[in-house]
Amino acid sequence: MRQKIVAGNWKMHKNAEETEDLLNDLIDKLPSDAPVHIIVAPTFVNLASAVEHLEFTNINVAAQNMHQAEGGAFTGEISADMLKSVGVNTVILGHSERRAYFHENNSLLKSKVDTALKHELVVIFCFGEELKDRQSGNHFNLVENQLKDSLFHLQEKDWANIILAYEPVWAIGTGETASPEQAQEMHGFIRNTIDSKFGRNVSENVAILYGGSVKPDNAREIFSKPDVDGGLIGGAALKAEDFAAIVSAA
Ligand code: 13P
Repeated sequence: MRQKIVAGNWKMHKNAEETEDLLNDLIDKLPSDAPVHIIVAPTFVNLASAVEHLEFTNINVAAQNMHQAEGGAFTGEISADMLKSVGVNTVILGHSERRAYFHENNSLLKSKVDTALKHELVVIFCFGEELKDRQSGNHFNLVENQLKDSLFHLQEKDWANIILAYEPVWAIGTGETASPEQAQEMHGFIRNTIDSKFGRNVSENVAILYGGSVKPDNAREIFSKPDVDGGLIGGAALKAEDFAAIVSAA
C-alpha cells in the first residue's frame, strides 16, 4: 500500500520570521495523526531552523534544489552533504522553474539524482509537459523521455528513495489545474512506463504526486484517483489553513 504524500514547495517565499510564523501555524493546524507523509520545502537559508523547529512533529523538511558536485568552486551553490549536515533528508529536483529559468535538462538532472541518492537523500523528482506539448499531442512522449533520460539508469533498490511529481507546466501557478481524469490518465501512463522498465515491485510502490494549482476545493477529487498518491503544492502551501485542508483531503 502506497502512503499518501503532501509536500509544500515554498519557492522563493518567506523570510526567516515569516518561515517561523508559517511553521508555527502549520504545527497548530495540521492533523498530527493523519496517515499522510507531510513535507515542507522552505528556502535554503531557513532549512536548518525549520529542521530544528519541526523536530518533534510529523512534518519533514525538504530542500528545493542542490548542486550535483560534492563541493568545490561553485559560487552560490549548495551540496548534498551540506543539506544532510543540517538534518535535511529530502530534496526536490527538476522542478519546471529550475528547468525553465536555470536551464536544468534531463542529463544534468540525472547527475543530480545520482548525487542525491549517493548521499541517501530522498528525491522528489519533478517533470511534466508544457502547454505546447499537450496541444501538439506530444505530452506522453515528452514525459516518457524525461523519465528515461534522468531515471532509467537507476537500480531497483534506488527506487526506495524516489518520489515522482508530475507537474504539467501549464497548470503551475495558473489556477488552471489538470482535471482529475487528465491527472489519472498521465499518472497511469507514468506507472506503466516505470513498470515496463523496472517491473511491478517498483511501479506499484513508487509514489506519484500531482502538482499544479492544487487547492483545498479540488484536492480531494484529484487525490481520489487510483494512481495519484498525493500532491506537490505551491501557492496553497503558503497558507496553513489551505495546506492543512489539502493534507486532510489526502
Ligand atoms: P502551484 O500549486 O502554485 O500551482 O505550484 C505548483 C508547484 O509548482 C509545486 O512545485
